Amino acid sequence: MKTTSSLSINAERLNARIGELARIGKIGDTGVCRLALSKEDRQGVELVMRWMEKAAMKTRIDPFGNLIGVLEGRNPEAPVLMLGSHIDSQPYGGRFDGTIGVLGAIEAVQTLVESGIQPEMTIEVVAFCDEEGCRFNKGLFGVRGMTGKLEPGELERTDKQGMTRREALLEFGCDPDEMKGYTFREGRIGAFLELHIEQGPVLEAMKQPIGIVSGISGPVWWTVEMTGFAGHAGSVPMPMRQDALVGCAKVIVGLNELAAEVPGAPTVGTVGSLSVFPDSRNIIPEKVSFTVDFRDMELQRRNRLEERLRTLIDDVCREHRLTYVIREDTNSEPRYCADWIKELLAKEAEGMSLAPPELMSGPFHDSLAMSYVCDYGMIFVRCKEGISHNPKEYAAPEDIELGAELLFRAAKKISAGEARSEPQNQG
Ligand SMILES: [Zn+2]
Repeated sequence: MKTTSSLSINAERLNARIGELARIGKIGDTGVCRLALSKEDRQGVELVMRWMEKAAMKTRIDPFGNLIGVLEGRNPEAPVLMLGSHIDSQPYGGRFDGTIGVLGAIEAVQTLVESGIQPEMTIEVVAFCDEEGCRFNKGLFGVRGMTGKLEPGELERTDKQGMTRREALLEFGCDPDEMKGYTFREGRIGAFLELHIEQGPVLEAMKQPIGIVSGISGPVWWTVEMTGFAGHAGSVPMPMRQDALVGCAKVIVGLNELAAEVPGAPTVGTVGSLSVFPDSRNIIPEKVSFTVDFRDMELQRRNRLEERLRTLIDDVCREHRLTYVIREDTNSEPRYCADWIKELLAKEAEGMSLAPPELMSGPFHDSLAMSYVCDYGMIFVRCKEGISHNPKEYAAPEDIELGAELLFRAAKKISAGEARSEPQNQG
């Protein structure tokens, strides 16, 4: 099915911009490294700011490092329609993660403006600061800052070079002291829409270019430390050992089995980082520290599995005479997209001769933080083999165009005040 001819957006312009932004922080042929608040990030923000201005938006960078473009509506009292995503990347990232959501949103606004439409609601396009969280080990910084959800000590978190977030913000051109006076006004944002690549293999398997997101499964993140006793690998008999790595291995296998227990369920569990002390081939591992990432769309099921994982760690440690500490780094519950936005997206897609399937999001996005302050909806774009956070990440221009067109059509309806229903904010 060829729908390009019926597009309202300027697909060529959108794809050219995606290519141009990808040149900033380019690694290899197709990769991108644009770490949050780095010099490359700043360059990217400045380029995107110029595009916002070309789309007739007034721009500013807030104290949290968010780039915001504003298209004033006819009714400045009405709640704002916010669109956006992020342009920072992983250290070994791709060209599409986040960027298609920001550039797609600018394209949607520019199309509105070029059609001579002034929306009823003000539209704000945001490139949120530090969605990825890899530099300071805590993500969604900009969106949480903007919505008043930062936690104590966040400005003192350091990157691998020992630079604090406060210093990085200052270097970026933001004044963290201005954050103090910043409070989020409840009800200011009416709805939030985000376009993003799927970062998973579901749409590709269904042969669908785009999908409508049902919700974002909440991750629980732990750091677990298990401690035994070191000894010579050649002399300590097996029954006398307190090998922390053996205990850890049993937990990894157990987590895998727990997450796979219900066939077809979206539950996923991963140990992705592990460090061994003293890390020597002829010393029995004394201490192992590892991460746990656990996600599900059903909070109750996730909670039950989490309890069983705690029991498993306890049992394993007793068996191997280890002590352990579980530190919870992040715990967010699943957040569901608003029904009225999902229905609107489905209806607008129908007008494009598309029937996008509903699917959940395993990864979190800026939308996750927005879900606490307004109704939200997300459009996913198919990505090749589900690869993301990797230079091999790829989404076809034709698919991105369809996603951006749907974003445009939905934004046009919502900002005209034609699609709003009772807000169903999950609180
Ligand atoms: Zn992203």
